[in-house]
Amino acid sequence: AASNRLDRFLARRLQRSLKQIRLDLVKGRVKVDSELCDEPAQLVNQFTRIDYDGQVLQHNQPIYILLYKPVGVVCATKDAQHKTVIDLIDHPQKHQLHIVGRLDLNSSGLVLLTNDGRWSSALTDPKQKVPKVYEVEVEQPLTASYVTAFAEGMYFDYENLTTAPALLTILSTRTARVVLTEGKYHQIKRMFGRFRNPVLKLHRISIGHYHLPSDLHVGEWRKHYVKVAVY
Ligand code: URA
Repeated sequence: AASNRLDRFLARRLQRSLKQIRLDLVKGRVKVDSELCDEPAQLVNQFTRIDYDGQVLQHNQPIYILLYKPVGVVCATKDAQHKTVIDLIDHPQKHQLHIVGRLDLNSSGLVLLTNDGRWSSALTDPKQKVPKVYEVEVEQPLTASYVTAFAEGMYFDYENLTTAPALLTILSTRTARVVLTEGKYHQIKRMFGRFRNPVLKLHRISIGHYHLPSDLHVGEWRKHYVKVAVY
């Protein structure tokens, strides 16, 4: 949430001049987070509660949601064909939410949703290299050459990019854990595609330090409480 000066916020919101607003502030007509405020340069953002003449002008709570996405549900806010992750959520402010890093229709696992753009930007900024951990089941047996190829990165002609080093750990003949620090279009499927090895199951277990809770069932969601500013 970008910060803004209180006087500018009020002038825009109430269609009054900055001069009028400063007078209002001096008269004690404005509360910021339930405290009288007469400071025009006070910084406010979309989550600051602002009252004017005893009326609430703005009162948005930041929302952070962990969701266990089932296969067959689409990571979009609207879709004509499929159920969306928003359809799974029962929350009065659910239409304010955006998705922090999508999963494909036939992938499952952790999806984060929020109305806090700064939090989602920090988690998806490629420079932050936030690790995303996936469990993958493939059709053909895995070999050590997969580990090397994922670690070295793969060049994709279409976007003219080389993938960042990814950690692949073989868990069994046809299952692996993959850690990505980026999220290119269908990245994991395309990386296994290099070996002509179709991905049968793809499941995300974590994004940074947010893990799919072991007691959260498929299709369920829960609020996460961010106690301190994480950005
Ligand atoms: N890579 C994919 O191919 N699909 C996903 O959903 C996530 C990563």
